[in-house]
Amino acid sequence: MAGTDFRLYNTLTRKLESFSPADGETVRIYACGPTVYRPAHLGNFRTFLFEDLLRRVIALRGWKIFQVMNLTDVDDKIIKSASERGISIGEVTAPITKIFHDDRRFLRIQDAELYPKATDHIPEMIAIVKRLVERKLAYLADDGSVYFAIDKFKDYGKLSRLDTREVRAGARVLQDDYSKENAQDFALWKSAKPEDEATGAAWGSPWGRGRPGWHLECSAMAMRYLGETLDIHCGGIDLIFPHHEDEIAQSEGATGKPFSRFWCHGEFLLTEGSKMAKRLGNVATVQDLRDQNIPAAAFRHFVFSTHYRKQLNMSGEALEASMEGVRRIADFAERLAEAKAATPELEKIAAEADAEVTAALFDDLNAPIALGALFTFVRKANAELDRNGVDKRALAKARAVFARINSVLDVVPEAAGPDPELAQWVDERLAARKTARAERDFAKADAIRAEIEARGVAIEDTPHGTKWKTAR
Ligand code: AMP
Ligand code: ZN
Repeated sequence: MAGTDFRLYNTLTRKLESFSPADGETVRIYACGPTVYRPAHLGNFRTFLFEDLLRRVIALRGWKIFQVMNLTDVDDKIIKSASERGISIGEVTAPITKIFHDDRRFLRIQDAELYPKATDHIPEMIAIVKRLVERKLAYLADDGSVYFAIDKFKDYGKLSRLDTREVRAGARVLQDDYSKENAQDFALWKSAKPEDEATGAAWGSPWGRGRPGWHLECSAMAMRYLGETLDIHCGGIDLIFPHHEDEIAQSEGATGKPFSRFWCHGEFLLTEGSKMAKRLGNVATVQDLRDQNIPAAAFRHFVFSTHYRKQLNMSGEALEASMEGVRRIADFAERLAEAKAATPELEKIAAEADAEVTAALFDDLNAPIALGALFTFVRKANAELDRNGVDKRALAKARAVFARINSVLDVVPEAAGPDPELAQWVDERLAARKTARAERDFAKADAIRAEIEARGVAIEDTPHGTKWKTAR
């Protein structure tokens, strides 16, 4: 069917490819989630917003979605933090997990279907290590840890194109985040150290007490919930090597099947030209956005104004421009909601915008083009609304198109529409007031008006019914 081709850039093939779910119906996605030892920064959230965009465009395309995002709740940094503070890893990760979800909701990132925690899936991880040992792709070393033997897996390096890097077969590395210059045998299972035991980060296994390596958790949770071959696996670009390369080695080494059909990676968010990273101390968080009254819609606009495969530099000016941009969209949204009719031309303008936005989003999630088309729509539609037309169908079409575009970008700031709970309450009270008036119980009607106004809502009776708005 024309107009429904959906293309994504696949890191595995380094090509734009046509995508559709393997079963024709449900897109099964795994996205590497946050390590919950400190609140995620806006760089992390750029990647999560790219995944939110992917999710919403898949819905726009009409497919169902099953997305899993893991929470890394055991790793070197978490154990170090727990050990220093004399608490358990769970005590480190629980409050940070809560902040993650609060921040994610603030940015309007839709819920994944599942957020599994690594520590809840130790048996699944041990099962993979067992299979790899049986297949002689893994070995128990004299330090009590189990390593993956990269020279036994012929496809090692296929995702990151390792040929330019040195492969040091037999050289071992215990930490998760190792040198990008040379690939080494990586730890699947790490023998327990005293601080692991002290912080609740050690479990029994056929190789003695220990804990899983970081890469292993993603293979285990992805296959547990999505099957042995996923449709899409995604994350930030820094995860290509070693994390995703090692996930492929473990998963395909264990199952003999391709682990994921598509691998999609989002580029970095930079501040003043360098990668935003916790260890560089140049991070900003969602809390900083809240403190500076930067609406979620503006941050989404800022992120979507650059293609997800290009680097994006954060600056005060860029955020200001996005705040101004979403204000214009908000004004338009309000105008569209209040209009009674429009000119017939608006129908054609809306149809054009719809086609343009859809084509851009289906072409490797081209949000900047989609945003451009949205602003063109706003400008042209405003001009039509100035002309006081009488075509109700054209107005309905424009509203539907605007809602459809915004279902993906979600860039109308809150102030443009009151919160849905309040709206429902006001509608309910206004209905009660109408009944009271019909029954000529004016004292009751006045009391209801006072009750509504006490919540900061102004009401106005017009020939077309009662209108209301929040006072702010
Ligand atoms: P982490 O909590 O460090 O495991 O990271 C969570 C996600 O954020 C991963 O997909 C990373 O690739 C991604 N990420 C980390 N730093 C940045 C950045 N500066 N810009 C965009 N994505 C990032
Ligand atoms: Zn992962």
